[in-house]
Amino acid sequence: MVRQSLRNAKSATTTTVKTAVTVAKVEKTVSAKVATNSRAKTALSKRKAASIDDSAEHGDPEHVCAVKDEDEGDDDDHVDQKAKKPAAKKRKTKGDDNMPLAARTAVTSLKRAMFIGAHVSGAGGVQNSIQNAVNIGANSFAVFLKSQRKWQSPPLAADTKKEFHALLKQHGYDAAQHILPHGSYLVNLAQADKAKADQAYDNFLDDLKRCEALGIQLYNFHPGSTGGATMEAAVGRIAAQLNRSHKATKSVITVIENMCGSGNVVGSRFEELRDIINLVDDKSRVGVCIDTCHAFAAGYDLRSPEAFTETMAKFNDIVGIKYLKAFHLNDSKAPFGSHRDLHANIGTGFLGLRAFHNIMNYAPFENLPMVLETPIDEKGPDGKSVENRQIWADEIKLLESLIDMDADTSDFMLKEVQLRAQGSVERIKIQDQVDKKAKKDALKVKPKAKPKAKAAAPKKRVKKEESDDDDDDNDDSD
Ligand SMILES: [Zn+2]
Ligand SMILES: [Zn+2]
Repeated sequence: MVRQSLRNAKSATTTTVKTAVTVAKVEKTVSAKVATNSRAKTALSKRKAASIDDSAEHGDPEHVCAVKDEDEGDDDDHVDQKAKKPAAKKRKTKGDDNMPLAARTAVTSLKRAMFIGAHVSGAGGVQNSIQNAVNIGANSFAVFLKSQRKWQSPPLAADTKKEFHALLKQHGYDAAQHILPHGSYLVNLAQADKAKADQAYDNFLDDLKRCEALGIQLYNFHPGSTGGATMEAAVGRIAAQLNRSHKATKSVITVIENMCGSGNVVGSRFEELRDIINLVDDKSRVGVCIDTCHAFAAGYDLRSPEAFTETMAKFNDIVGIKYLKAFHLNDSKAPFGSHRDLHANIGTGFLGLRAFHNIMNYAPFENLPMVLETPIDEKGPDGKSVENRQIWADEIKLLESLIDMDADTSDFMLKEVQLRAQGSVERIKIQDQVDKKAKKDALKVKPKAKPKAKAAAPKKRVKKEESDDDDDDNDDSD
């Protein structure tokens, strides 16, 4: 018996080592390719970035970056920001939209009550999100309550509301606990301009009212952008808008998402989340959603058990664990502290599977909605993008399998290495971009070069490359 399991472990380890060797080879080849390709991509990046900048409400590239990535869990009537197409784009889905791809796991059968799901489509009406969640075996889910890129949307129809409640009952979702709608990308509660601030507030309040009509208690939103004002002023304006919205509604909890950016983006540091909460009058109406990719890119490590514990202790000290209401589960294509918002599939990014093992086995996270916003777009035979929701169905099962799993077994390690290998091409590509940018930033802050006539030319070149890299920041999400 023992010998048999030893043999199994040994063969698994051999496979692990073999896979690791293959990964190393792949990474070497890709490194070379990336170096050749990166310059050729500059022109394309520039075009894309220009189009993104045009549509930016806040004039803040980091914010737009975050916005763009979350398209991955988008509804069908969204406008692809990268292509900036004027009309609504119908997204294709692999197979039948209504095909069940996995059965829901009974949470009671898990060692921990983890409610894992994804940001599903609500195209054709928010009631459709329920079947979409059922089809991927999700025990929690996120959805946009209306078009997230339009200021005006028709009111919630009575039929929609009725059907939503009926389907909730039929499928046994607890709307108050496990549904986490995502706010509009247009809304910036830190907006200083009165007319624009009112427009943002109206849109925000309309969503909160929709939540209450649907029996939903948690509402997730991005805190916003300072627009060049001080962080203190922005935080004050966000809190004032929250206070106003709480008075205009009864029960919905406004859940602030942590961000990955720096500069004008509000909410990438735990202290900023705390400062908003401190100014909210009714503390029972405010919470936080941790996006794992955003946290990692903002400089909060989750990879090793020790780093994870330290980050959670920091969160508890600064914000308070009682404010933690939800998770967005995403791996990161960009390295630690890079302030770039590039969601990766679970285990394939710089976070790696171990980070998610830490999360799945942390008791205080029980009963919180945990929503995947990982990429599911694949290239179809015609070269067009096709949504493969099987990826979410599989990721949900993968995350559930981590609950109570011993991370020191060969089973876990093999899975970890396999997933790491899958993401190596993307990781090398983004690491390369980040390294180049860091190099150029370092040159930028250097004291002025000796005032030789010769220095002028390279300086100009550096300036140009900087802007090229800034463009790269905006172009990588799938
Ligand atoms: Zn978000
Ligand atoms: Zn998120």
